[in-house]
Amino acid sequence: MVLPDRERDGRNSHDSRAPGTPPDRGRPAGLHRVRRLIGTRTAWTTVCDGEFFCPGCGGDRNYQRRSGRRRFVLLGVPLLSRGRTGPVVECAACQDHFGLDALDHPTTIRLAAMLREAVHTVVIAVLTTGGATSRTTLDAAVATLRGAGFDDCTEERVVALVNALAADTGRPGAPDCAPGLAIELHEALGPLAPHLAPAGREALLLKGARIALADGPYTPAERDVLATAGCALTIGTDDVARLMAAAQRTPS
Ligand SMILES: [Zn+2]
Repeated sequence: MVLPDRERDGRNSHDSRAPGTPPDRGRPAGLHRVRRLIGTRTAWTTVCDGEFFCPGCGGDRNYQRRSGRRRFVLLGVPLLSRGRTGPVVECAACQDHFGLDALDHPTTIRLAAMLREAVHTVVIAVLTTGGATSRTTLDAAVATLRGAGFDDCTEERVVALVNALAADTGRPGAPDCAPGLAIELHEALGPLAPHLAPAGREALLLKGARIALADGPYTPAERDVLATAGCALTIGTDDVARLMAAAQRTPS
């Protein structure tokens, strides 16, 4: 489907114009008429569609991915081909155009799901170091998971998960972070880290630290899991140490 052009002067709409602003506002009416008659017109073709987080109007929106064909226009008649343009991502709400990198940012719904999954992975990873046998640690873990949105979380389910994960990735209470567990942490936290502010990444690590501290000082295995989680969250080793010490000084 070839759609009518909305950029009669040939500009890419990914420009400094505010979303929703008529493209020719403020220009002399005569110049506007000339531009309608002589210039470059772009006919857009929809390639695919989906949902994205629109950086223009700030929310989860439908988008259409479009490629364009530019033509020189004289007296309103398309004449010479000026080549292809795009592809671009067009927001269905504000109609603005963006580069394809706009699709790299998850929607708010997807981001919330990634965050929930990240909390779950950190909590379970800390518990696999042996904390699942402590009542206070289990209480802290269940409270954290429920707070993250796992409303039906119970101690029995947590223990079953920890045992299954330990059987799959390494021995419970092993002195270092088992390779399988490290992979789990990197897979859950790595894709999320670029989309969180430093405070958000640190908050995730602190949740794990507080669960590790629920039954007493950090064990070497807990320190190792938290260091791995910090690495996956792209928190520097010095900052990981600082955060772990801060959690120790201010227990929740
Ligand atoms: Zn938009």
